[in-house]
Amino acid sequence: MAYLELRNLTFYYPGAAEPAVEEASLSVPAGQFVVLCGPSGSGKSTLLRLLKREVSPGGRIGGSIEFGGLSLGEWPARELAATIGLVMQNPDNQLVVDTVEHELAFGMENFGLERDEMRRRMAEMAGFFGLEPLLGRKTDELSGGQKQTVNVAAALLLRPRVLLLDEPLAQLDPLAARELLGMIKRLNDEWGITVIMSEHRIDDLLPLADKVVRMERGRIVFDGEAREFVREA
Ligand code: ADP
Ligand code: ADP
Repeated sequence: MAYLELRNLTFYYPGAAEPAVEEASLSVPAGQFVVLCGPSGSGKSTLLRLLKREVSPGGRIGGSIEFGGLSLGEWPARELAATIGLVMQNPDNQLVVDTVEHELAFGMENFGLERDEMRRRMAEMAGFFGLEPLLGRKTDELSGGQKQTVNVAAALLLRPRVLLLDEPLAQLDPLAARELLGMIKRLNDEWGITVIMSEHRIDDLLPLADKVVRMERGRIVFDGEAREFVREA
């Protein structure tokens, strides 16, 4: 059964004459690794933000988004916030507090988790991402790859079932990008988290992807298996 289902999703930013996303329909089974590609301005970020109900108010939306059998509008905001994690493109935009440890604690505190549970999740996540040596460090002194790793770890501490990543590798050097990608793939394999990740250079991602979706000018122009995408390209 599809976990995430978009039907004819259309979105206009306030005052825009052209839609940023147009008649997009897409079905994503639970646990898939989906790569979303397409040129800059094709609507990838808008689509990802729509999935988390994070687009500018005043925009015009058409069509529907269903998630776990419920329409997105029926999800209580709090539950939605925990169930769908979003990592934005510029790692600096999401880092809000001073140290790595506080950054990781921030979302969990907002969520009102108990101290013991926070400590347990923090230790587990730091272990998974190899962040233990960085916990006391200031976030603004980290490398781009470390910052983005902290953002991914922070998004996961609320135990989302879906992780949306908006060009998470774009600002990383090739080695850091490969390392982060390896960790994202492990999350998908080991924890069964559904991953939807946008990127405009996708050669390295194709072998990992269950599904490739390509957007052009707001429309989904390809939706299929990675090997078919290779054949068409
Ligand atoms: P991509 O992520 O593929 O680069 P975007 O979703 O950022 O594409 O952009 C899709 C279209 O929406 C573009 O035409 C872009 O100019 C427009 N757009 C993006 N963000 C905004 C915004 N906040 N306000 C108005 N238009 C926007
Ligand atoms: P379980 O049903 O026992 O949680 P899973 O295979 O879903 O089995 O997960 C195994 C372990 O992986 C969990 O107990 C938890 O420690 C970790 N895990 C799974 N999903 C997430 C997530 N979204 N965020 C953080 N940790 C997770």
